[in-house]
Amino acid sequence: MSKLTFMQEELNRLEDVGLYNNIRTIESPQDAWLKIEGKRVLNMCSNNYLGLADDKRIAQAAKEAIDKYGVGPGAVRTIAGTMELHKILEDTLAEFKQVEATIGLQSGFVTNQAVIPQIGADAIFTDSLNHASIIDGVRLTKSKRFIYEHNDVNDLNSKLEEGKEFGRKLIITDGVFSMDGDIAPLDEIAKIAKEHDAILMVDDAHGEGVLGDHGRGIVNHFKLSHHDVDIDVGTLSKAMGVVGGYVAGTKLLTEYLAQKARPFLFSSATTIPDVAAAIASVRILMEDDSLVRKLWKNAEYFQQGMRDLGFDTGKTQTPITPVMLGEAKLSKEFSKELFKEDIFAMSIGFPTVPKGMARIRVMLSAAHSTEDLDFALQKFEKVGKSLQVI
Ligand SMILES: *Cc1c(COP(=O)(O)O)cnc(C)c1O
Repeated sequence: MSKLTFMQEELNRLEDVGLYNNIRTIESPQDAWLKIEGKRVLNMCSNNYLGLADDKRIAQAAKEAIDKYGVGPGAVRTIAGTMELHKILEDTLAEFKQVEATIGLQSGFVTNQAVIPQIGADAIFTDSLNHASIIDGVRLTKSKRFIYEHNDVNDLNSKLEEGKEFGRKLIITDGVFSMDGDIAPLDEIAKIAKEHDAILMVDDAHGEGVLGDHGRGIVNHFKLSHHDVDIDVGTLSKAMGVVGGYVAGTKLLTEYLAQKARPFLFSSATTIPDVAAAIASVRILMEDDSLVRKLWKNAEYFQQGMRDLGFDTGKTQTPITPVMLGEAKLSKEFSKELFKEDIFAMSIGFPTVPKGMARIRVMLSAAHSTEDLDFALQKFEKVGKSLQVI
């Protein structure tokens, strides 16, 4: 028996319970329709909310930047210096998010690892459904953890009461919950944070480009300011269509992170084409909110259609559309049948969502046309009936 036999055993187990991820290979740009294994399929699972991932203007910005600056950043920014494009991106993001300053990191995931340990909180209060990158960020601390019931401000309040002897307190929540599409009650959380003198951090990965004026995100959506929400974590890999993460807030916060955050100090910055493309995305959003409006129109149209067919779309309040199926095996089967019908929509199971709550997660995009959505509804109906879900 080899030392690594346990790996095969675990893979077999995942396969048995329907949790093995078969990763599809895409042979075309990320758009409304994709080419997968030579087959043309409707894309219903990317986070490319606004269709910017293959936008010609953004691709052009990346090409021009490569001609001017090359590709690589050379080393970490504190050692090799910061390329001016990284500064331009940070300033552009600050204008977009209406904050004093932002600081860029390599991804949204990394940003949570960068920020959470550096707050040095004595106690952390974290929503039970927070994203894995927040959970891992919390694991990097020695803080006392309080996990409050999902979106339950009363439970948050009692946990804060319970932990009131702790000095520095940090509350962390996702803005939009990525698997259910519901929105954190950030206005109420901000009020409680103030009452308990707790630092408030929100991860706006699925709020940016989606919520608020021109997709400015959840803080704008609730008409709050960055005096109410101390730390706003963002990603450039979803609605912005590129890759990268950042923190928005005060100059003090970003200056502190530039001196302290380990992924900033010990890992190189994003590449030139990433940064140039991200700048172009943010500028498009600031100039024109038509893509955001189209996204919402598509989401409302599709979700209404699914509910009319009798599907359970959970408690979504955003374009994230969970199609609740329960058992992981059924959900996988559903996804497979959809693929036969030219629909690419992945099944999501444990540990991404709790056991017994497997689902197809449909992601709407401004890239979809009404005909695309009608096509999808027709196929969901067909598969739903054949698997006796509706
Ligand atoms: C997707 C996601 C991330 C990770 O973002 P990347 O830029 O892809 O690393 C972090 N937090 C939340 C809430 C997310 O949904």
